[in-house]
Amino acid sequence: VFLGYDHALARGGPLSYYGAMKRLTILLAAPRGFCAGVDRAVQIVERALALHGPPVYVRHEIVHNAHVVDRLRAMGAVFVAELDEVPDDGQPVVFSAHGVPRAVPRAAAARALPYIDATCPLVSKVHRQVERAHAAGRTVVLIGHAGHPEVAGTMGQAPPGAVLLVEDAADVAALPDGLGPLAYCTQTTLSVDDTAAVVAALTARFPDIQAPRSDDICYATTNRQAAVKALAPRCEAMLVIGAANSSNSNRLVEVARAAGCPDARLVAGVRAVDWAALEGVRVLGITAGASAPEILVEQILDAARARRAVVVEEVAVAREDVHFKLPPEVGG
Ligand code: SF4
Repeated sequence: VFLGYDHALARGGPLSYYGAMKRLTILLAAPRGFCAGVDRAVQIVERALALHGPPVYVRHEIVHNAHVVDRLRAMGAVFVAELDEVPDDGQPVVFSAHGVPRAVPRAAAARALPYIDATCPLVSKVHRQVERAHAAGRTVVLIGHAGHPEVAGTMGQAPPGAVLLVEDAADVAALPDGLGPLAYCTQTTLSVDDTAAVVAALTARFPDIQAPRSDDICYATTNRQAAVKALAPRCEAMLVIGAANSSNSNRLVEVARAAGCPDARLVAGVRAVDWAALEGVRVLGITAGASAPEILVEQILDAARARRAVVVEEVAVAREDVHFKLPPEVGG
């Protein structure tokens, strides 16, 4: 019985017969996966390894994805939590894409540690906003998630107390009076819709608060959420490929649920997919967070093809052509 054929865009394979396999339509979100900042950070570590040989130290996970981290570790990258774990052996240390507090490059310079900053330029843009607002005498309200390294890096661009973190409208209501002139900025990987509600609460309470010149939520976050919104209402279930500690991936799960997909879940990779739970699903959405490589998508597509007569349809809401220059330390 011919039940369907696979026309996955990237594969272009011949028509295949599937016997009695049940049909599964997979809606693939586009854009998905690696953004320009993640691509640049990974290239920085690869080039540093090629230029200096192993070990190259990396402070924190270069991006929040175990597959990426494990591959770089196998090439000779050594991941550390803090600079004091880096020995003085003349080998460079790379700072992750999420950005670092100013104290970190200062401490590296004090030890004459060669360092390469892989902070995404769109995170650096937010850092400069914090610096400027602080220099102008404003207290900065940062909308973000406590404990995320990007938030630690952004708060660390000004002295302690100069940046106040809020996660939601309740935090805005709890801010003290008498803060003086204010400015706000945001983490780059937040939910576009949730952030709009927090900004509305901020501007209602502090009408004179200074807004960023342009949106801090980055193009990659915005596009991946827009793609998920476009396909979620058509999907009975959705797999968001990403790490549990990846902010933008977690937001994609929330966006999918809010946009009408009843069963959206985060999966680290093919081994985490619960195929039994998907048995009755006829239309499955798949996307990947900004730190998840395309190979993880392909592995899940292959596993789906082994079980079901798969038809792949790509749902594209934007085409991205963003590339960031590499730093001079690695030949950029
Ligand atoms: S998600 Fe956005 S801010 Fe973060 S690394 Fe990618 S492009 Fe940069």
